[in-house]
Amino acid sequence: MVGGFLTAVALAAIQGPASQAQVPPTLDTTSIPTLVVHITVDQCRADYLDRWRWQFTGGLAQLLRTGAVFTAAYQDHAETETAPGHATVLSGRNPASTGIVNNDDGVSDTSAAGVLLDVPGPGASPWRFRGTELFDWIAARYPAARALSVSRKDRGAILPVGRARQQVYWYQSGEFTTSRYYEDSLPAWVRTFNAGVVAARAPGRRWDLLLSSAEYAEPDSEPYERAGRDFVFPHVLPADTNAAAALVMVMPWMDSLTLALALDGVNHLDLGRGPQPDLLAVSLSTTDAVGHAYGPDSREIHDQILRLDRYLGAFLDSLGRLRDRRRILISLTADHGVTSYPEWSRAHGDQDARRVVADGPIRAAWLALVQQVGPGNWMDYLGNGLLTMDRTGLATKGVNVDSVVAALAAALRRVPGVLRVDTRQTLAAADTASDAIARRWINLVPPDLPAELMITLEPHDIWSGSLSAQHGQPSDDDAHVPLIISGRGVRPGRYSTRVSVVDLAPTLAYLIGVTPREHVAGRVLTRGMRR
Ligand SMILES: [Zn+2]
Repeated sequence: MVGGFLTAVALAAIQGPASQAQVPPTLDTTSIPTLVVHITVDQCRADYLDRWRWQFTGGLAQLLRTGAVFTAAYQDHAETETAPGHATVLSGRNPASTGIVNNDDGVSDTSAAGVLLDVPGPGASPWRFRGTELFDWIAARYPAARALSVSRKDRGAILPVGRARQQVYWYQSGEFTTSRYYEDSLPAWVRTFNAGVVAARAPGRRWDLLLSSAEYAEPDSEPYERAGRDFVFPHVLPADTNAAAALVMVMPWMDSLTLALALDGVNHLDLGRGPQPDLLAVSLSTTDAVGHAYGPDSREIHDQILRLDRYLGAFLDSLGRLRDRRRILISLTADHGVTSYPEWSRAHGDQDARRVVADGPIRAAWLALVQQVGPGNWMDYLGNGLLTMDRTGLATKGVNVDSVVAALAAALRRVPGVLRVDTRQTLAAADTASDAIARRWINLVPPDLPAELMITLEPHDIWSGSLSAQHGQPSDDDAHVPLIISGRGVRPGRYSTRVSVVDLAPTLAYLIGVTPREHVAGRVLTRGMRR
């Protein structure tokens, strides 16, 4: 049943207390939003919204109808991964400025501050995040403002609110939790919510098609999907409870559960009653899980997006009943897109689509260095084609780093599937207006990261690894995302001008009437605004 869990929680939320905050006379309480709702759909490609638009009846339909829809929006950086993308959505700045350059180093925190409450799991906090975000700008003007950020993923919950010590929750080991960076104990409303999570991860719960199978053009039985296991509907949670608690993350209703937690939080924290603008950030992770497992061309992703539309519809309808809809400002985007399975690309005309292996030249270069100067951390491969080197350390050992870099770049350019290999020199000389790949690498690398080699693959290729669909390239498949803003001050319509996700935060700030507290890379999207 679509939205069944959400509806129950929404009803409980609607019946909650209704206290009216005192309004300071200095505020113009009629024009600013009192609730800013930002939704990040993890791994949502921009073309999903067009492909199945005619089947939308819920939240996506509503936002496409009422919003300013920017059809050429890009996460304009390399390493199109979850952590860099989530640090971008509400900061107005690229990874080169936020310092969040890859997934593994995004929010991991092994210190005491990273320890999770009540459950085991990897420690997490925003300690690596640099600078401010939209919520900091709001709070600077409205000290009473509060934020709630929720996601299935730690990085999806943490990074949209930067370093702010607000209410931030994510799903780990079968429950929603947070870390000691934010709180010393879980609030009662989250504990109560967790008691209801058990039903969502019940063994045997099934994912069937939402509509009749005739409504889906995509074939269901593609044997490469999900590494050759469980690639045909229905998908069923396993009998083992631990396995079911983990696999619920690939099920559509994980998004419903995340939205239900958000709605519960709005109610219990009394967010959005004004007069100040509060922030609700929600990152929905199932599209990412389904996209990796089944690919962007699968029947499963089609069904997931339809269900996401229904869940978002129930969520927005509930919010509109809880609070004054005219005072809610909504935005939606994604942290990155995804590239098709190479198997799918080969079957659809791109005979050269492949998984690329470049370990050989990198390992050979590292071994040569070790032989020359002894063991040491001379090189670090950060993933998705980004390689750093200890230039200073190697230089003091008498190594000509430029020649090492040039030789390795030449070897990597011979690897099948490698489109280009950039160095600091090639990026410095690039025309960033016309060369999107160079621009995306430059937008990724902070000045203090010793990046030496930036490897980009052919558009339909992915790095080797697990048998799944992947993202992470500075390609349009991985960078092109939806961007929609809906609310007072927005002029509904479709806008095809090329824009960047870093434009979102300054545009929201403009609509709220606050000012960025630092230099941002984005600009206000005035074309989609009423003036
Ligand atoms: Zn992601």
